[in-house]
Amino acid sequence: MDNIAHWLGGMALTGRPDLFILIFIFSNIPDILSAPFFFYYVIKDGFPIKKKVLFEWKPPQEYLDYYRFFHSLFGMSIITAVFNVFLPQYTQVFLLCYLSHIILDVFSHGGFWATRIFYPFSDFHLGFTKNHWQHKLTRRTIFLILILMNVNILLRHKIF
Ligand SMILES: [Zn+2]
Repeated sequence: MDNIAHWLGGMALTGRPDLFILIFIFSNIPDILSAPFFFYYVIKDGFPIKKKVLFEWKPPQEYLDYYRFFHSLFGMSIITAVFNVFLPQYTQVFLLCYLSHIILDVFSHGGFWATRIFYPFSDFHLGFTKNHWQHKLTRRTIFLILILMNVNILLRHKIF
């Protein structure tokens, strides 16, 4: 999903509206870490950096390996262990945000973009999911669930 959806996902799973700025960053970490590799391989393939890339670019296996590592439970464990060395007081929030990113992407990516949560040990992925940038129903359903979960949290924290 996109950055806003991941932010809402992190907010929903952590239930910490007070940390909303950190949660925005933490819940987008798998994409932030994939981004340099994404731009490197897109430019290498001579593709213009436009939204079109997602529709037409067939990523090389090398890029998919990085992408899948950052979007896996194995990658999550390693990145969280590194994070824990620097900011241990936020490790729990970081882990929940990272996990929320993977959960959302499991249901909003399909085909070769499908999230392989057990990478590199297994190619397991859901066969029925669709890419959210190509499938409005996927986007709308996920956003609706995320908004309802966040309204619930804000009500519980008496923010309204
Ligand atoms: Zn992602």
